[in-house]
Amino acid sequence: MSFQPASVLPEDLRSQRWVWVGESGLLCPQQGLFWTQAELPYQPLPEHIHALGTWHGQGYVAVEARDEPTRPARRLRELLMLASAEEQAVLVRAAQVVLWSRQYRFCSRCGQALQAHAEERARVCTSCQEHYYPRINPCIIVLVRRGRSMLLAQGVRFVQPFFSTLAGFIEAGESAEEAVHREVMEEVGVRIDHLRYVSSQSWPFPQSLMLGFMADYQSGEIHCDPREIRAARWVEPGEDILLPPPLSIARQLIELHCREL
Ligand SMILES: [Zn+2]
Repeated sequence: MSFQPASVLPEDLRSQRWVWVGESGLLCPQQGLFWTQAELPYQPLPEHIHALGTWHGQGYVAVEARDEPTRPARRLRELLMLASAEEQAVLVRAAQVVLWSRQYRFCSRCGQALQAHAEERARVCTSCQEHYYPRINPCIIVLVRRGRSMLLAQGVRFVQPFFSTLAGFIEAGESAEEAVHREVMEEVGVRIDHLRYVSSQSWPFPQSLMLGFMADYQSGEIHCDPREIRAARWVEPGEDILLPPPLSIARQLIELHCREL
């Protein structure tokens, strides 16, 4: 990986590329996704600038900014569709770091103000010394296979009516593997085996880490949980249905299955 993460601001801010994270989305310059310091809508306070890291020798920082009434903010989801893989990594990191900074201002134990840690990406309570790190919620996502067929489902909360893999949050005290078995049983009533971990993806809607698995169908008929799943069925590779966007790990699992046939 060419990415070098950073949590302390570099001395030379002029050489950085800037991600401008407003309250309702990202602000982009006239061209591209990233600003130079000279182009910024205004010069932000140091406490609103967050180090992100270096990709291929280029440093990036994020600005925790207010919305600009004269410039419409753009949704992260929409920008990710347009971005390269490297740009996506920068945007995802910027969005999550700024969201964490906005959410963690006061200690949840004693209510006192938090201050930035000098060396780490953390906030520390000025009274009881409790530390707060960026929060990440682990989720599982799984493609269940039955020969060539794939078990795909439409979630009730999907913005678009695509068919995707099954997914859910890992519960406290549960392993990722246990969560895969539980989620598949809860959502569609099917037993699985031959679980195989494939890869993971940071998913900033809002602060998830998706752990991607493949699994084989074992037994049971599909019965959808109507609170979670609108429809689920076995889909053949090449069928003309709406699939999740290419940047998603769901789509990557589907494409991996098709390549492995
Ligand atoms: Zn405290």
